[in-house]
Amino acid sequence: MKKRAASPDVVVVGGGVMGTASAWELARRGLSVVVLERSVPGAEASSAAAGILGAQVESHTPGPLAELSRASRRLYPAWVRALERATGIDTGYRECGVLKVAFRAPELGRLAREVAWQKPRPRVLSRRALARREPNLDAKLAGGIAYDDDARVDPRRLFRALHIAAARAGVVFRSGAYVRRVVNEAGRAAGVALDDGSVVRARHVVVAAGSWTSLVEGLGIAAGAVQPVRGQIVELETPEPLITSVVFGPRAYLVPRDDGRTLVGSTMEFVGYRREVTAAAVRDLLTAAIELVPAFGAASLGQSWSNFRPYTEDELPLLGGTELPGLWLASGHYRNGILLAPITAAVVSALVRGKASPVPLAPFAPVRRAQP
Ligand SMILES: Cc1cc2nc3c(=O)[nH]c(=O)nc-3n(C[C@H](O)[C@H](O)[C@H](O)COP(=O)(O)OP(=O)(O)OC[C@H]3O[C@@H](n4cnc5c(N)ncnc54)[C@H](O)[C@@H]3O)c2cc1C
Repeated sequence: MKKRAASPDVVVVGGGVMGTASAWELARRGLSVVVLERSVPGAEASSAAAGILGAQVESHTPGPLAELSRASRRLYPAWVRALERATGIDTGYRECGVLKVAFRAPELGRLAREVAWQKPRPRVLSRRALARREPNLDAKLAGGIAYDDDARVDPRRLFRALHIAAARAGVVFRSGAYVRRVVNEAGRAAGVALDDGSVVRARHVVVAAGSWTSLVEGLGIAAGAVQPVRGQIVELETPEPLITSVVFGPRAYLVPRDDGRTLVGSTMEFVGYRREVTAAAVRDLLTAAIELVPAFGAASLGQSWSNFRPYTEDELPLLGGTELPGLWLASGHYRNGILLAPITAAVVSALVRGKASPVPLAPFAPVRRAQP
């Protein structure tokens, strides 16, 4: 075991959902894996996410991201079952559907036209059908679009399960390990150098450093290829859940948990790495939540937090091989990293083991961002 940890087959940079899911997948296939995490595993976006598995509600046009999202959604049920079997942890995966609601009929009509290309076609719910499905929604709503195949998960529970499953499969996690750069030896990735001057050697390097990916040296991507987009979330608590579906309103989304908590999110802010919860965002989120579900006016305030979505300019992840053999990227999943975790892990695991990717990767090639 000691020898495996000293010079593993694969070193993963970043212990978020991407790094940990990839590590688990690789370890299950017999590779030795070390995850280097500058903080503690799950410290950042992967524990801050709302947990919407919005393969369709988040896809606004047909294209490679919509395809990737649907492929990942297809993997989810078996993936969480495997996690639950490995750990006994309920990840909070619920096939609850997602509703996108509108206050006015013309707005509902616009939403209906926007989803005409989608398969399966989301259903248009009348005011009455919406009220039957979610009786606590404001009675003034004109109706909604039902994405019946979208779902939700509890990202914190999911991450705990992933972390435990990966560790049980033999993955070694090193906290407080800040990776400075990828080591290039004779034109091949040979490991990574840490800020304490030490080197962890490995035949393969997977960089899954989320919003901090561009700060790792030696990747061959542009300085701003991945940028942080801050999102703030406020939690409401009621004695029992007031909604069961995920609800997207015009100004906020609501994500219920079974225990009576509801997450209200989220802002989209280019403010660098400033980790604040602001008064204006909390005001706006609470106003939007009460507008959608008036009974939230009597809810208790729970926690609030913010974190960073790893954004890329074309909003596509950086996924696959780079110009340096042995260096792989799994980053830039922006708003949908929790949804995209199982397909990302499957892709990374296939590529590292020299197999074909289960999905076409050309649109996500990290080299599209290589500097001239
Ligand atoms: C408010 C909010 C709501 C969201 N809601 C959803 C949602 O509902 N559904 C959904 O699918 N997605 C959602 N997301 C997006 C999702 O959270 C991210 O896409 C996903 O978590 C990215 O995972 P990651 O592993 O790439 O990044 P992270 O979880 O940020 O992990 C990256 C890790 O790398 C570590 N690291 C960075 N640099 C280094 C280094 N140099 N050396 C060592 N370690 C390093 C960091 O400490 C961190 O732990 C949301 C995000 C936010 C912020």
